[in-house]
Amino acid sequence: MKYDAIIIGAGLGGLSAGAYLSRAGKKVLVLEKMSEPGGRCRSVELMGHRFDIGADYFGKKILNIYAELGKKKELDPVRFRVIAKHGNSSMTIPPGLHTLRDFRGMGMSAGEIGKLGLRMGGQIMLNRYRKISGYAELVNRITDNVSLREILNVGAFFSGNNPENMPSHWFNLVFGRTYGYDRPFIPRAGSGRLPELLASVIRENGGGIVYNAQPDRIIIRDGRARGILLEGREMEAGNIISGTGIINTVFSLVERKDFPPEFLSTLGYYKEGFSMASVFTVFNKNAKITPGVHIYGMFPASVAGMFRVIRDGSFPEDNMFVISVPDAAYGTPGEHLAGTIKFLVPKGAVSREAIEAEAGRIMGRMDYLIPGFSENVVDSILYTPADYAANFGFTSSVSPVAESVHYEKMSTATPVPGLYCVGSTVLPVGGCTASSILSGRAAARLIIKNG
Ligand SMILES: Cc1cc2nc3c(=O)[nH]c(=O)nc-3n(C[C@H](O)[C@H](O)[C@H](O)COP(=O)(O)OP(=O)(O)OC[C@H]3O[C@@H](n4cnc5c(N)ncnc54)[C@H](O)[C@@H]3O)c2cc1C
Repeated sequence: MKYDAIIIGAGLGGLSAGAYLSRAGKKVLVLEKMSEPGGRCRSVELMGHRFDIGADYFGKKILNIYAELGKKKELDPVRFRVIAKHGNSSMTIPPGLHTLRDFRGMGMSAGEIGKLGLRMGGQIMLNRYRKISGYAELVNRITDNVSLREILNVGAFFSGNNPENMPSHWFNLVFGRTYGYDRPFIPRAGSGRLPELLASVIRENGGGIVYNAQPDRIIIRDGRARGILLEGREMEAGNIISGTGIINTVFSLVERKDFPPEFLSTLGYYKEGFSMASVFTVFNKNAKITPGVHIYGMFPASVAGMFRVIRDGSFPEDNMFVISVPDAAYGTPGEHLAGTIKFLVPKGAVSREAIEAEAGRIMGRMDYLIPGFSENVVDSILYTPADYAANFGFTSSVSPVAESVHYEKMSTATPVPGLYCVGSTVLPVGGCTASSILSGRAAARLIIKNG
């Protein structure tokens, strides 16, 4: 057989599987529909500046993977800070001594801060979250402080889901250091460096990556994945790994009849989260940005309330928004900085005009996060979710996560022998870059173990 594994999709999940397999001496071929790797983790050049179009916040645990693959140095990680604002309160990440000051600013007494420490420690160390039905419920049990509750609800923004509908596992992933998002970094050359380096491991170990290649389907014969069909031509492989999303794989690349009904019913948990719009912005350095701060977030009075309005199809009064300015973390020289402002968009038929109007409203509130921002904007361009799909080849929903408070993670091995699914949709409790990369490694390890 020509290939030990054919991998569909050169996102972080597929590439990570390919990197680990090729390093173990397996013959792999990656087929990617776009003309470059990375999927939802990519950098593009717009208005003469580099922007990260998808992921721009990476947890420290990813660094272990790049160290394992001998690529950590080339990744050149840059640490950064995040400022999260709720009304007049704010919190800076990573946590440190300043956190006590942040909590005081939220009106918390010494007793409340002590209680918070015990409750958070209990969640993180004893994994007590497993007994709590949902993320919002868990946050409510940790603190009564309104500002802190909403700031802890940040996971909802990043998964595009109401915190009331999110699995409580998110808490440990985001705050419990499973992925190390409390100690964030960005690669100096932009987020696109992460897929680039995984692709380089594949090439260095003799693997192949073909771009602009979109298989028609996965061939399953006698109950086992045997290969793929590409432009009417069969290509045989010992294993097929799909990094194109589990729903897409099961419902578009194979036939439902190949899977047992129980497996298909668990897929009913999956719902695409809300999509984001991005305003890629170039602004003068005169705007008062805090050195080393890459992300600023403005939280609404109630994150759950905001989601209810968005679900009903309109923009809420105080939509949450974030701006990421990697140039501030890198200390990029020059008179301009590049920043990406992101906000959630209601599902359904929302017109471009409505999204533009919302972008305008948010731009007006930006000065609250970065004083003098609006008057220092030099150039900007809005990408709606439809623009994302048309130009970047993916919908801008951060993580199509399982919208079920009871969801448990699943294996990358599907019920069809020889067929694996990797990527952030397979481990939806964390639908993020870290879960994608780890799922690729998990699939590779299973294949290596099975010979
Ligand atoms: C706006 C936005 C912001 C985000 N911010 C963060 C963040 O700050 N931190 C974080 O950790 N995560 C973030 N995420 C999530 C993160 O980007 C994703 O979880 C992760 O990149 C997904 O990787 P993946 O490999 O699972 O899937 P994808 O990146 O979606 O990769 C799938 C690949 O398969 C290709 N493909 C699809 N169908 C086919 C086909 N039929 N044939 C061939 N190829 C195909 C696609 O082109 C793509 O390259 C963000 C996502 C978005 C959209």
